[in-house]
Amino acid sequence: MEMKMKIRIKEKSFIARLAAYRLKSKKAAIVIGKTIYLHNTNREEFLANRKWLRHEVAHVKQAHKKGKIRFILSYLMESFNMGYKYNRYEREARKKETDLHILEDVEFI
Ligand SMILES: [Zn+2]
Repeated sequence: MEMKMKIRIKEKSFIARLAAYRLKSKKAAIVIGKTIYLHNTNREEFLANRKWLRHEVAHVKQAHKKGKIRFILSYLMESFNMGYKYNRYEREARKKETDLHILEDVEFI
């Protein structure tokens, strides 16, 4: 039996609120390690938005592969050099929005 990666979801997050402000968006989700922090959306709405969910799960997997802290540093460096949109982690996560298999090996707790 395969082990699924457990991903935590936290609502009403201050750090996600900062991200929303920075990105000038109403709602936001931000990944730190295996936790997805939400602002202005709730667990139910977020889980129902499969495209958004797959995007954030892609970031969880990126962080897992690279290591939590190394990922954060590398992500910030990319954003600084390339801007948010062309950041390679964002480009990859956007591609994964249509990856129908990305949710198969994860569970939300
Ligand atoms: Zn993203």
